[in-house]
Amino acid sequence: MNLRAPHIRLLTIAGLLLVPIAALTWGSIDDIRYKIKGIDGNLWAPLFARGWMVDGRESPGTITFTFDDGPDHRTTPVLLDQLDKYNIKASFFINGVRIHPRTAGGVLNQAVLRDIYRRGHFLGNHTHSHRDITTLDDEGWRTEVFQVEQVIRWLTGTRPWLFRPPFGRTDAPTLARLAQEHYTLVMWNLDPNDWKARNARDLFERTKRLIEENPDGGVLLLHDTNSSTVEMFPLIVEWIEERNARLRARGERTLEIVGLEHFVRSKAKHIR
Ligand SMILES: [Zn+2]
Repeated sequence: MNLRAPHIRLLTIAGLLLVPIAALTWGSIDDIRYKIKGIDGNLWAPLFARGWMVDGRESPGTITFTFDDGPDHRTTPVLLDQLDKYNIKASFFINGVRIHPRTAGGVLNQAVLRDIYRRGHFLGNHTHSHRDITTLDDEGWRTEVFQVEQVIRWLTGTRPWLFRPPFGRTDAPTLARLAQEHYTLVMWNLDPNDWKARNARDLFERTKRLIEENPDGGVLLLHDTNSSTVEMFPLIVEWIEERNARLRARGERTLEIVGLEHFVRSKAKHIR
């Protein structure tokens, strides 16, 4: 082969240029792994990135676990191990302040966030500092909503497609804006007020009662920042499984623990 041929010389120069460019964009092996995983996460984009709204009543006979206000390196890892043990996929609605490098535990929480994603759970945006989104101006949207997206994208390789409004507060303009940003809004219909619980046992009793009163199930709101919640989690899962065994024996409908995608697939409505 004649290296002096003009097209070969061009190819050689292009090849030499590509090496540093590739080195700059690829980063570490870890980054590549998360980027590949990120493509995985984006497989959900066609389903989630369409401005749907979930209120918990879409998929009767199923229940899904959602955890807000984390991650917290002191409590979330314990929950992640339990979720793996029972093979349950949950959804985590993140406060950006938790994964900010300058907040206490921020860097440790970043590792937990990557772990949530790596283990196949869904990530959602819950604003940077738990603000009522109906009060935000353009600058507020930048810091409270878009900045969280960017940090999650930086850590996992994919932006979140789910949004849970702090305090459940929305209005027509904020709903329109969330739809425009391709978010699926995730509300809830089962709230045991875990942050008010005295201990795990008390919370277990409340949650059992709530499920008995709502046998169709739905979207359960919990907080992975609350140690009683994390302690209660295996108790409620085992109770649901025992209850299902009883219901099945009587030929009655069970309550299956599922991922949030079941709710989006079954009859979720568009935000507007
Ligand atoms: Zn919250």
